[in-house]
Amino acid sequence: MNPTDPEADDSDVEAGDVPDGRVDLRTGEFDVLVRGVDVDPETRCVHYRSDVDVAAFRFACCDAYFPCFRCHEETTDHDAVPWPRDRFDDPAVLCGVCGETLSPTAYLAAADACPSCGAAFNPGCRAHYDRYFEI
Ligand SMILES: [Zn+2]
Ligand SMILES: [Zn+2]
Ligand SMILES: [Zn+2]
Repeated sequence: MNPTDPEADDSDVEAGDVPDGRVDLRTGEFDVLVRGVDVDPETRCVHYRSDVDVAAFRFACCDAYFPCFRCHEETTDHDAVPWPRDRFDDPAVLCGVCGETLSPTAYLAAADACPSCGAAFNPGCRAHYDRYFEI
């Protein structure tokens, strides 16, 4: 857990380009931007709220993390671009429990648990890998 310093906001993310009031931007909870609908402090969203829905995925199109592809669909006005294979060693998965970012390579090798804190990830996410990663 990183200490939160409200003065240390070096992000250049704007909250103004998303419509209506459903969007919850949490720049304070994590070191990265998580954007979605009713995002909780462990990155669950209105669509996926089980105990193990604690990972968020980065999309190449807007470079932000989303709890799920439906959050991306509902909070942006463009098609989602899955994380490209040639960047699989860059951070693109966020563990909502410990806040660690993982590369797709590490995430895909981790077998449904965070390699950093051991939190279980939803194995059902595997069914949607092609929405998040270029595989
Ligand atoms: Zn996008
Ligand atoms: Zn969602
Ligand atoms: Zn973790």
